[in-house]
Order: sequence, then C-alpha cells, then structure tokens
Amino acid sequence: MYIGIDVGGTSIKAGVVNHAGDIITKYAVPTPLDNNENFLKAMLESVQVALKEANVKADEIEAIGIGAPGVVDREKGLLVNSPNIPYINAPVREYLQKNLKNVPVLVENDANSAALGEYYKADNAKNFVFITLGTGVGGGVVIDGKLFTGTNGAAGELGHVVIHAGGRKCGCGREGCWEAYASVTGLIKTTKEHKDEIKGIKEGDRISGRTVFELAKKGDKDAERVRNMWIEEVAIGITDMVNIFQPDELVVGGAISKEGDVIMEPIREYVKKHSFNVGELKRTNIVASRIGGDAGIIGAALLYKNKSEG
Ligand SMILES: [Zn+2]
Repeated sequence: MYIGIDVGGTSIKAGVVNHAGDIITKYAVPTPLDNNENFLKAMLESVQVALKEANVKADEIEAIGIGAPGVVDREKGLLVNSPNIPYINAPVREYLQKNLKNVPVLVENDANSAALGEYYKADNAKNFVFITLGTGVGGGVVIDGKLFTGTNGAAGELGHVVIHAGGRKCGCGREGCWEAYASVTGLIKTTKEHKDEIKGIKEGDRISGRTVFELAKKGDKDAERVRNMWIEEVAIGITDMVNIFQPDELVVGGAISKEGDVIMEPIREYVKKHSFNVGELKRTNIVASRIGGDAGIIGAALLYKNKSEG
C-alpha cells in the first residue's frame, strides 16, 4: 500500500492507494497559506485521516509520494517553492518520516506525478506523454516505463515549446509558447480577441473557457469557429509531441478534456494529417484523461513503484 499526496493551491489531497493504482480512500484539507509549519501539519492530517478511513496502519505503508507545483528537491525531500503556495524549502520527507514511519518519501513536480498516474492507467504503453490543459499547459513524459525528468529534474515542461515565434508573451519569459495559446487562459484570451464577431457574446458578459463551447453547442457558428481555432492550437503542439516522442499513448487532461470527442476527434484528425508520415507503422493512441482529478494522487503514490521497477 502507498500514500499519494497531491498538493494544490487550494487543497492538499492524500490518498491510500494500492499497487494497481486504485484509491482506497482519499481525504482533502485546505492548503494553509501562511507558513511551513501549518502547511506540514495540514499535510500530516490529510494522511492520518485517509489512513484511518482506509483502516490501514502507518506500518503497512511502503512509501509516500508527494506531487507539488513548482520546484522540488528530490535528493533532500524538500518542496522548494511554488508560484501559488508560500512555503520555502518545506522539509516534507523529514517531517512525515518523523511523525508516521521511516518509509521512503519521494517528491515530484505535480504535472510529472499526474503523468505517472495516467501512465499506469494506460493500455499497454511503455512510451507515454501526458499534457494537461488548465491555467497553463503542463505535461510529463514516460520513456521505456520510467518517468523522464532530465539532468536536473525539470524536464517535461511541454507547454513552453514555441509554436508562434514572436507571439504572445508567456509567463516563462519567452514569446509564442504553446501554453500561451493552448491553455484555458489562452482560450479565454482568444475568445476576448474575437468577441465582437460572436453574436452570442453581449457587452459585459463574463467570458470563461466554457463560453465558446456552450455557444457552439447551441449552434453559434462564430463561437464554433473560435473554439476550433483553439483546438487547432492544442493540436499543433500535440503533433510536435508525437513527432518528437512517437509515444504508444498521449493523454490529454485538465477539466476541459471532459468535453471529450468535441476536442479529441479534431485533434486526432489534425495529428493524423500533419504529423510525420510513418506509413503503415503503429501510430500514437490519443485519448482524454481516464482518471481526471485523481491522477495527481495516484501518480504520487506510484512514484516509488516506478523508481524501483526494473
Ligand atoms: Zn513559456
């Protein structure tokens, strides 16, 4: 049995997870936004309640994994910093080992953890790419069954490949990153840029990532056109990922992936048409997330399993 902890800006979610990657129980607490001490206490509480509800004792746990936004120190077991949570060098390994049991505690970036969760739920994949469309575009890569983290652990920033040179300014400092177009933030920006052409949008309407999807479903052709512009931006980057990795499977996550085939079908068509021609050889299976918001917990829980597998 493992524990997986998914650290987010609003909640810390802990789950008791078995070897197959199924969540036995999970428990969430609000993320304290004041200091390291309260953050660590809240994390411990989430674990203790999840264990109690699963009726599992701390000494039955083989390992704990933590997925967190921002920078982590895998060697020392620290959460170094995060764009939206004010901890600095939070010593999560030391703290959990002191208060629970001396088990291995692994820390990983949240998108990489979610990638691993989806990987273990994929059909027979050894080479695997995950992208998540949210405020930004996150991702993770599994090569030959192992999470790929690069020379310094920072690999997998798939959203920061440039797809429009000299284009929109990105949070990372470059211009024209995939993230600036294919994220939900990018979708909202594109919708605002074209709002005068969309009859269904009235002056003063609040524009969200759902706006063009909802209007298109009601038959608004202009909203459909803007929606399709965004889907194409997503598909351009996915085509690049397919050309680089030729993975067995590529999973698209983030809440917007629940739109399902409205998004996935045109992406598959675009990739089929524009990716490098491999003739009759096997092609990447491109699918929407299977486990949604649980990917972070499951992937964090299975970090140890992934590390120890041959
Ligand atoms: Zn960028």
